[in-house]
Amino acid sequence: MIITITNYYGNEWDYEGEHGPDRWYLDFPKCAGTHQSPISIKTNQVKYDPRLQKIKLHDFDNIFNANMSLKNNGHTVQVDLNDQNMTVTGGGLPGKYKAQQFHFHWGSEDRRGSEHDFNGIHYPMEMHIVHYLESYGNITEAMDKEHGLMVLAFMFEFVLIDDHVNIPSVPLSSLIPDTSHLDHFYRYDGSLTTPPCFESVIWTVFKKTIRVTESQINAFRHKVKKTANGEPERDLTDDFRPPQPINDRVVFSSKPEKQYIDNNTNSANIQSVNSLTIVSLLLSSLYSLYHSR
Ligand SMILES: [Zn+2]
Repeated sequence: MIITITNYYGNEWDYEGEHGPDRWYLDFPKCAGTHQSPISIKTNQVKYDPRLQKIKLHDFDNIFNANMSLKNNGHTVQVDLNDQNMTVTGGGLPGKYKAQQFHFHWGSEDRRGSEHDFNGIHYPMEMHIVHYLESYGNITEAMDKEHGLMVLAFMFEFVLIDDHVNIPSVPLSSLIPDTSHLDHFYRYDGSLTTPPCFESVIWTVFKKTIRVTESQINAFRHKVKKTANGEPERDLTDDFRPPQPINDRVVFSSKPEKQYIDNNTNSANIQSVNSLTIVSLLLSSLYSLYHSR
C-alpha cells in the first residue's frame, strides 16, 4: 500500500529547494521559454472558438481489461498505457492522438496541488492524460515536435461524502462512458510542466471538475513516498509547477463564457460531475491498485 520512490540518480530536478522550478532552466534551457505550462486561466480573457468541437475519446472504456503498470518516476505516480489503443480525435485537434500515460499532481493541503488554475483558484489535484500524435509512431519521436503532444487535464475537487459510496464501489458494468461534460474545455499551446519543458504540447483543460473523497486524496498524500540516497522517507506531495507567464498566447474556449458575478467557479462545478465516468474510472483504477498492495 505504500509506494516508495527511491531516487538513484541524485536530484536532477525537484519541486523545492536548490533544484526547484525557478532553477530548472539551468540544466534544461527550454524551461525558460515563452510558451511554458502551466498557466493561470482567466475566464474573462479567454476567446470563444467555435471550431473547438466536442472531444471524442476512443476505447477509453477498455482500460479495465488492461494490465496497467503503476510506476514512480521519481516525481509523480504514473500509469503507463503502452498496450492500449486509447485515442482522441475531434476537439479542433490537428490529428489523432494516442494515449501514452496518465499521472497526477497534488498538494499536501486542499487549497493547492493543481498546476493550472481558474481565475487564481487552485484545486487539490490535477490529472494529466498524455497523448502523442499517432503519426509520429511513439512518444519519444513526438515529444519535441510542435503539436507532437496533447494533454487532457482534469481538475479534482474535494468533497465530503461517505467512503462507502466512493467511486470504486460502483459496478464497472453500470458505467457507460458519458462524455456529455467533455464539451467545455480550454485550449492553448504550451509545454511539458516538467523538465525538459519542450514547447510541444496542445493543452486541453476541462472546465468540469471531478469529485474525490478525502480518503482518495489522502492515498496520494500519505501513501506515496520518496527517498533520496540514504535520506529518510518522506511524503511525495506538492508535485506541481507554479503558473508560467502567458506572454503572447491566447487561451481559447470551446463555449462562450458565462459572465460570473464572482470568480468562484467551485460551486458551479460540483453539480453533475458524476457523468465524468471515464476519468473517474482512471482515478479509481489507480486507487484500487494502491489498495491491492
Ligand atoms: Zn503532469
